[in-house]
Amino acid sequence: MSRYSIFELARHALTGHRHWPRAWRDAAPKPAYDAVIIGGGGHGLATAYYLAKEHGIRNVAVLEKGWLGGGNTGRNTTIVRSNYLLPANAHFYEFSLKLWEGLSSELNFNVMFSQRGVINLAHSDAQLDAFARRGNAMRLHGIDAELIDREAVEALVPILDTSERARFPVYGGLLQRRGGNARHDAVAWGYARAADRLRVDIIQNCEVTGISRDGSRVSGVETTRGSIKAGKIGIAVAGHSGHVAAMAGLRLPIESHLLQAMVSEPLKPMLDTVVSFGAGHYYVSQSDKGELVMGGDLDMYNSYAQRGNLPIIEEVVAAGVQLFPIMSRLRLMRHWAGVMDMTMDGSPIIGKLPLDGLYFDGGWCYGGFKATPASGWVFAYTIAQDRPHALNEAFTLERFASGHLIDEKGAGPMPNAH
Ligand SMILES: Cc1cc2nc3c(=O)[nH]c(=O)nc-3n(C[C@H](O)[C@H](O)[C@H](O)COP(=O)(O)OP(=O)(O)OC[C@H]3O[C@@H](n4cnc5c(N)ncnc54)[C@H](O)[C@@H]3O)c2cc1C
Repeated sequence: MSRYSIFELARHALTGHRHWPRAWRDAAPKPAYDAVIIGGGGHGLATAYYLAKEHGIRNVAVLEKGWLGGGNTGRNTTIVRSNYLLPANAHFYEFSLKLWEGLSSELNFNVMFSQRGVINLAHSDAQLDAFARRGNAMRLHGIDAELIDREAVEALVPILDTSERARFPVYGGLLQRRGGNARHDAVAWGYARAADRLRVDIIQNCEVTGISRDGSRVSGVETTRGSIKAGKIGIAVAGHSGHVAAMAGLRLPIESHLLQAMVSEPLKPMLDTVVSFGAGHYYVSQSDKGELVMGGDLDMYNSYAQRGNLPIIEEVVAAGVQLFPIMSRLRLMRHWAGVMDMTMDGSPIIGKLPLDGLYFDGGWCYGGFKATPASGWVFAYTIAQDRPHALNEAFTLERFASGHLIDEKGAGPMPNAH
């Protein structure tokens, strides 16, 4: 398979771009693999890539019930940042951000990572104090953070209503300049192509329907395309975590909830940072196509349906208009939803499950897109070495029994309070 480069682009231009090779093979399932990864989202594909690249385990299959990136990977609002307070999250997400910074060249695929900055707005003195604390913690962890005042916010986001008349006046914000966006489905495609180059089998339209066991050890999976034996099995299925873990007789502290996203009609460039509202749950950025990409809170009921309801759309749009009155005459163009894997403390679970050979990566709540590279990297390490890496050793399943929760926002054990 050829490398993407300016020379390849020029060469294919001569023949009208009609002869580009497939980005990855359409592999058929083999009877047995050293490792099977369930779920062809960003996390599953990244795991397979790092298993092959970092650990030399190449007899690997990624099994996806639909199409690559058709789950939350292709449905998110693409925000990438590492502005976390607690050490476990801060180190993990900063490692991820560092991987993002070199990802397009690592994968030889343009994931359109744009470090346009992420601003969290503060709307009270107390909130500004909390941001100062978080910013200081980030700096102590070696992560860039700037506490900025209202004038600086105004200079960065001129379309924001920073007047005293605003429904929630802006007091300042916490800025992470290295944060930003990436093109979400390119991340899935880039990892798939890079894993395929290392001979990983990427198998779409292959739903896992059962996990077979041999005593206390897993031995393979049942799928809609037949039985497959596996030395090790990694689960990376996001909103379907509970469903797939139940195939191995396990019940996880995870609930599936809906999260919606929406885009406006396309506009000329007007917003070149990511802005998140501190007085409610709302975040917005402008895509390269000109659409304003927005999201808010969960729909607040459990579901496996990939569509949401109107009240949340109204809430998101109302928050947008409060912050940016300029949006009031905009039309909403599309909206959709994904199934979120919400843990009880808002932080992920990455590690071994209580059956030999079975590993789990999930519970990403609102934030798993930015985690994709690090999640794949540490999950591959955990599967290959049969033990966690220092970066994911706190993200155990056992923390819910031992009480060592990683409750970043102090929101307690309720997904709907996050
Ligand atoms: C609307 C929305 C906005 C978001 N915004 C952000 C954001 O701005 N920033 C951020 O960091 N995160 C965000 N997220 C979260 C982020 O998208 C996810 O945490 C992340 O993409 C999860 O990736 P994944 O690979 O684990 O899951 P997915 O991409 O969902 O992949 C899991 C795959 O497993 C497959 N699968 C399920 N069951 C089976 C089975 N039995 N057999 C085979 N395959 C199976 C599914 O079809 C799916 O393709 C958002 C999510 C949503 C829904």
